[in-house]
Amino acid sequence: MKITDLAVYCSSSDHIQPVYFAHAEALGTMMAAQNINLVYGGSRVGLMGQVAKSIKQHQGKTIGVVPEALHIEGVVNTIDDEQIITPDMHTRKAKMIELADGFIGLAGGFGTLEEMLEVMTLKQLGYHNKPIVFLNTAGYYDHLLQMFEHIYAENFAKAEYRQLYHICNTPEQAVKYLADYQPPDLPAKWFV
Ligand code: AMP
Repeated sequence: MKITDLAVYCSSSDHIQPVYFAHAEALGTMMAAQNINLVYGGSRVGLMGQVAKSIKQHQGKTIGVVPEALHIEGVVNTIDDEQIITPDMHTRKAKMIELADGFIGLAGGFGTLEEMLEVMTLKQLGYHNKPIVFLNTAGYYDHLLQMFEHIYAENFAKAEYRQLYHICNTPEQAVKYLADYQPPDLPAKWFV
């Protein structure tokens, strides 16, 4: 599947280990090399800022989707090729989902988790069938993935829903997974 626009969900924090920045930088470089545009929160802070910077350094294209309330000088990025301002956070998230052919979550906090879980739940309900990748830098998502296993073990979701998302340890693996992606044939959500 050809991915033209990739939504990258990731940290707005700068106070994190260099290994997370290294993966964000490598992902940006690979996206630019493969003409994959960045759809993201349009912020210059944290891993968001790093991915965008790396893409622009390699002549790639970035699209920032920013809610009015977060359009703050010093936070919002000024290097984007396109900036879409939305009236609120809900519209912003919907716009990013609409624009993107796929989703990748780098390490992040509550905002990133919310975005990743939203695209997973929408896929679970059949609203889209686009690829979703966790970039598990330095095992950052191991605890969350354990929680997912607990969800299957306790029958809060069908085990087949492991196919909703894919876990990668490196940006190379993530980009390859996205390029080779075949939408899975998922069972209906309901246990009826
Ligand atoms: P967090 O993981 O809590 O640091 O939040 C990061 C995620 O939430 C990103 O993927 C963004 O889409 C969104 N986000 C958080 N802060 C901002 C901001 N200042 N500007 C744009 N998006 C943001």
